[in-house]
Amino acid sequence: MLVDGFGREVNYLRISVTERCNFRCQYCMPEKPFSWVPKENIMSYEDMFKFVKVAIDNGVNKIRITGGEPLLREGLDSFIKMIHDYKNDIDLALTTNGYLLPSAAQNLKNAGLKRINVSLDSLKKEVAHHVAQKDVLATVLDGLDEASKAGLKVKINCVPMKDVNGGEIIDILEYCMERKYPVRYIEYMENSFASSDLKGFKSADLLELIATKYKFKKVPRENSSPAQYYELENGYQFGIIEPYGDDFCESCNRIRLTAEGFLIPCLYFEDALSIKESIENNDIDGACKILDTVLANKPEKNKWSQDEDGEVSSRAFYETGG
Ligand code: SAM
Ligand code: SF4
Repeated sequence: MLVDGFGREVNYLRISVTERCNFRCQYCMPEKPFSWVPKENIMSYEDMFKFVKVAIDNGVNKIRITGGEPLLREGLDSFIKMIHDYKNDIDLALTTNGYLLPSAAQNLKNAGLKRINVSLDSLKKEVAHHVAQKDVLATVLDGLDEASKAGLKVKINCVPMKDVNGGEIIDILEYCMERKYPVRYIEYMENSFASSDLKGFKSADLLELIATKYKFKKVPRENSSPAQYYELENGYQFGIIEPYGDDFCESCNRIRLTAEGFLIPCLYFEDALSIKESIENNDIDGACKILDTVLANKPEKNKWSQDEDGEVSSRAFYETGG
C-alpha cells in the first residue's frame, strides 16, 4: 500500500502521456506557436508501464490517462491494453478534449478503457472556436456520441468563464442531463500560462445561476472526489470542483506522472522528482525510493488554498494533466 506522510492512502495515479495539444485553450496554453519538449525527453510507454506495474503492485487501483491531449500520442490504445491486461479490474479512465474521439473511441473501449472525461466549454460554434482557438465543436460532439455508442462512461468537464461561456451554464447542464453525462464545472484556476484577461466563476455564482431554473440539494461528498455534487429533483447530478478550497485535500489519494517522467505529489506544489533515468536503467528499486520521497513530500493541503499573497501558479496544466 502507498501511504503519504499524513497517513493518506494513495491508490490513484494520473499519467500525462504528452504535453502536446491540438487545441490552444485560453485557460491552458493560448500561445501559438508553442515550444514542445523534444520527443527524446518523453518517457516511452514501455518505461511508463514499468512504473505502472510497481504502482499497481502497491495498491493503485485507479489510473487516469491525460495530457496535453493524450489522443495525439501514437500507440495510446496499446498502452491502455498493457495496463488492462496486467490488471483488468483497474478503474481505467481518460481525459481528452474529444477532437480525435470519433475514430478512436471504439479502439479505446476495445483496449480496456472504461471511462472518459471530455472537456466541453461551449455548445456554440464561435465560442468553442474562441476558447480552443480552432473550429472544434462539431467534431467534439461527434466524438461524444461515438464514445457513448462504444459503451464508454462519459463525464463532461467545463470551465465557466465570465464574458465567454458564462451564459451557457444551464444549456450545458441540459445538454448533459439529456444524455445522462454528469457535468463537472471546474473553477478557472489562474496560472501564468493562461490568457491574462480571463475571469472565472466561483462555485457560489454557478449555484446561484443554476438555482434560477432548477432546485437541487447537496450530495454528501464521496471520499477523495475533488468535486462537490448536487442533485436535481429528477435525480440528475452535476458537480463543481473548487480548487481554491481544500475540502478534498484531507482525503487526497492521488499522485501524478508527467510525460517527462516527473512524479508530482500535488498539483499545486512545485516538488517533483524524476524517475525517468532510474526506470530507463531498469533500476526499479531506485524508482521506488524516489516514489517514497515524493509520497513523503506530499503536502497536507494544496498550495493555492494556503496562498495569502495571491501568487499565480507556474505549474502548467498541459504538463500535469490537470
Ligand atoms: N486535453 C485534455 C482536456 O482538455 O480534457 C486533457 C488535459 S487538460 C489539461 C485536463 C483538464 O484541465 C481539462 O478538463 C481542462 O478543462 C482543465 N484545465 C486546464 N486548464 C485549466 C485551468 N486554468 N483552470 C481550470 N481547469 C483547467
Ligand atoms: Fe489542450 Fe486540454 Fe490544455 Fe485545452 S485544456 S489546451 S485541450 S491540454
